[in-house]
Amino acid sequence: MNNKTILIVDDTISNLDILMELLDEYDLIDATNGKDALEILSTEHIDLILLDIMMPEMDGYEVCSRIKSQDDTKNIPIIFITAKTDEESISKAYDVGGSDYIRKPFFPKELFARIKKELRLEEVISELKYLSVIDPLTKLYNRRFFIDSSKTVLELAKRERTPLSLMMIDIDKFKNVNDTYGHQVGDEVLKLLAKIMKSRQRKSDMSCRYGGEEFVVLLPNTSIEEAESVAEELRESVEQSHFELSMKESVKFTISIGLSTVQLENEGSIEKVLKRADDALYEAKESGRNRVQVKIK
Ligand SMILES: [Mg+2]
Repeated sequence: MNNKTILIVDDTISNLDILMELLDEYDLIDATNGKDALEILSTEHIDLILLDIMMPEMDGYEVCSRIKSQDDTKNIPIIFITAKTDEESISKAYDVGGSDYIRKPFFPKELFARIKKELRLEEVISELKYLSVIDPLTKLYNRRFFIDSSKTVLELAKRERTPLSLMMIDIDKFKNVNDTYGHQVGDEVLKLLAKIMKSRQRKSDMSCRYGGEEFVVLLPNTSIEEAESVAEELRESVEQSHFELSMKESVKFTISIGLSTVQLENEGSIEKVLKRADDALYEAKESGRNRVQVKIK
């Protein structure tokens, strides 16, 4: 069973029936006019659209343009299926954002092949998008994503006047882990920490691998006092866990955390907050590691 959903839009019921029967391996939704199609798109998740061009009131070009002008629908591939075969009509189909074009009457196998190609392309694109924001080892967000989205999060906090805290986490003496057990075990320790972070993070927290053995967590709507207890619980839960090498041997590790919070009045960028959290982290290291240090100003 294929779980991709295709929206079929055609004003001729017999055309719809043929397509519905032919494509029954997909989840299908049908619409007989553009208005209904747009309404369906605002509530349902659609992976691909088969779109007729000649329809009363709103023609296929218009429907396509509207879909392509909305952020949440613009990436859905659209294949036009129509009897209009003149050069002008075909080029217009591409101009308004159509991905492909099939002439009526069509060969079923050709239709299948084109649908599969579009769906595969969609998968590749979303995979690439995922890879560009996720750290492959830990599956946490990467530094680039953090830098990009922290700006938006900071703006939101300022606008709504809600507290925003940030923690920087560093694995204590991580070099020793690598030197003693090898980099493969080092990687496992990083993965274990990421797993603990994910299991502890609250809904709006954003956990990122900042680089090497350094991690950053953005804590929206969280005062420094709350952040401190979140950080302390994370520190404790890392201290109590271990990575099992074998039945007899396991690797234990600890983390140090530097905490800071946004000064809503005068914070121009997240970099300053990062810097304070980093200073706090340094102090945590200096004063013996496996601890949480706060720096507000
Ligand atoms: Mg028609």
